[in-house]
Amino acid sequence: MSDVIAIDGPAGSGKSTVARALAAALDWSFLDTGAMYRAVTAEVLRRHIDPADESAVARVAQDAHITTEPRVTIDGVDVEDVIRNEPVNVAVSTVAANPVVRRAMVTRQRRWAADQPRGTVVEGRDIATVVFPDATLKVFLTASLDERARRRGDEGVDSVARRDDADTGRIVSPLRRAEDAIAIDTTHRSVQQVVEEIVTCLKTPN
Ligand code: C5P
Repeated sequence: MSDVIAIDGPAGSGKSTVARALAAALDWSFLDTGAMYRAVTAEVLRRHIDPADESAVARVAQDAHITTEPRVTIDGVDVEDVIRNEPVNVAVSTVAANPVVRRAMVTRQRRWAADQPRGTVVEGRDIATVVFPDATLKVFLTASLDERARRRGDEGVDSVARRDDADTGRIVSPLRRAEDAIAIDTTHRSVQQVVEEIVTCLKTPN
């Protein structure tokens, strides 16, 4: 297995932006696992399936072919433009709490990483705790709720807080910091500063 940097944290903590910039700086591959849960949710909603219908949602996830780069697609349908809309924001935490969905996504995430010719930067909620417990480096990003809501723009503070509560409080793979993860508060820091701190940790033997 090549090197993996696992980045977890709540909505708006800067995971995607930092992970993408870090992957570019290292010339590694990047995976946004939130986009995968969002793609499944978009498909569930398109088929008018109740997000709480566990077996119907599980079937969608198990059968789906998902890509995240260069565009987010599910079964060949480009969903990039809908996955950050309100209906998906509302339903995604329910879909992501479904254990069968999680198992299907984790399998795909591990397979994807194993197929990459170089190191990978993977971001989400359970990357360091469940998906890659042996990651080369584990990072947990945080930021104040106000700042996170500001970054999420249209989503609004209530929706961001509700999603965090759901993701932190669920039974399967809840959002939490791995014991051996470095924690970085990004509230008052630039993307470049955070990337540099992570690169420094990567180069520092522990
Ligand atoms: O990162 P993003 O905000 O796009 O993630 C959307 C949702 O997907 C999260 O609120 C969470 O419910 C779910 N998710 C997850 N596990 C991951 C990544 C995202 O449960 N590894």
